[in-house]
Amino acid sequence: MQNPYASSYVWFLTGSQDLYGPEVLDQVAQNSAEIVAALNASGDLAAEVVAQPTLKDRDAIRRTMLAANADENCLGVIVWMHTFSPAKMWIQGLNALDKPMLHLHTQANVGIPWESIDMDFMNLNQAAHGDREFAYMATRLGTKRAVVVGHVSDARVRREIDDWVRVAAGRAALRSMRLARFGDNMRNVAVTEGDKTEAEAVFGVSVNTWGVNELVEVVDAVSDAAVGALVAEYETLYDVVPELRRGGDRHESLRYGARLELGLRAFLEGGGFTAFTTNFEDLGGLRQLPGLAVQRLMADGYGFGAEGDWKTAVLVRAAKVMGFGRPGGASLMEDYTYHLDPGNELILGAHMLEVCPTLSSAKARLEIHPLGIGDREDPVRLVFTADPGPAVVVSLADMGDRFRLTANTVTNVDLPHDMPRLPVGRALWASEPDFATATTCWLLAGGAHHTCMSTNVSIDMWRALADATGVELAEIGPDTSVAGFRRELRASAAYHRFVTNF
Ligand code: MN
Repeated sequence: MQNPYASSYVWFLTGSQDLYGPEVLDQVAQNSAEIVAALNASGDLAAEVVAQPTLKDRDAIRRTMLAANADENCLGVIVWMHTFSPAKMWIQGLNALDKPMLHLHTQANVGIPWESIDMDFMNLNQAAHGDREFAYMATRLGTKRAVVVGHVSDARVRREIDDWVRVAAGRAALRSMRLARFGDNMRNVAVTEGDKTEAEAVFGVSVNTWGVNELVEVVDAVSDAAVGALVAEYETLYDVVPELRRGGDRHESLRYGARLELGLRAFLEGGGFTAFTTNFEDLGGLRQLPGLAVQRLMADGYGFGAEGDWKTAVLVRAAKVMGFGRPGGASLMEDYTYHLDPGNELILGAHMLEVCPTLSSAKARLEIHPLGIGDREDPVRLVFTADPGPAVVVSLADMGDRFRLTANTVTNVDLPHDMPRLPVGRALWASEPDFATATTCWLLAGGAHHTCMSTNVSIDMWRALADATGVELAEIGPDTSVAGFRRELRASAAYHRFVTNF
């Protein structure tokens, strides 16, 4: 996956005013530069922080916000009131801003210099009240923003800032996303449907359909030499079963799998797509349901949803951008079947084929097996088990008058037994707070059976993305109770019907 942050940055805006004179303002600018330098030098942020000149009046604030909107590489703005910046000056700027904002409530110094502190120091280092004045105005205007409190030498503070940078990048990725659907949704399925026009209005995602035989033409045009080179790569990356290796009985099936990957990749690159869907009911001239190809493209950062589920493809792509470079991964996941041992209930998630190998740090097996549905040749696929550890499952459903995200924090666990006859990528997890509560709440929320499972995007980041896009999030976590969740759903429905223009 190409680094989605390579040419991106966030702006650092420092608020002050002309009251203090040039000496103090020089000090303000210097302190800001030190904070920006510390953030960049830490290596903890996915994107660079770029300092802007200190903002001291209404017109400059408004112009700066408009410039941030217009700069395609600017993911968002971090704001900090070093001194005191009377907040009526910020009204027009905040109303004009159309990028994510982080209010960093910090100060230049860590400790109070007890022996030397005087009123000059107090006037310079007064974010404690300058930021309150600013926050009042942001709240009064309804400005969406994240708030991070603390000194930048604190790793927790840098982590929270990095989370925000990543969510801002996720939102930017949604706004520029082009999603290709090969065929329509699976016939008669409800939850994978959705309003594609509203998706563009709410998320910025452009969702359109191409006839699958347009893809078939590209797949068939891939050169044999390119196929051979990719198959050689598979043999170094994966534990390829003997029947698929060169000289094996079914090597030709692996070659077709490689051809599918190269064709799909060429189609997506050619159209500027970062996400796609397939549908086993509509495979046209494809000889296999794309399994390995989809798994490999997901691992390379593409969003994907099966059975035409473009909404889950949107989530997977957002997760790929937000989690880039952090350990773990993200994938299409499907709640499949349960282990109902009382007190040790587990959910086994998988899909027909299309689970992303970034969920596992182990070398995947590359295998071929029959597939009962799709009416095509046996597909090749990667087989692995998701690593144990914390994860989030998130679904996106169209409730008719709005989108709803439903999320559950879970823990992936090791398989207690081998499953030698289940040749698919899979994850086994325990839900928070417990199976019965989590599953009851999921059903009450109308969460989908398709989800994005992420192991490198936290629930805090998903919540921030929901806030940034204005989309409802029904959150099931360690403190959830069924009674409380029912109340939250009712309150949330009232709130979203009140504020939505859907
Ligand atoms: Mn499915």
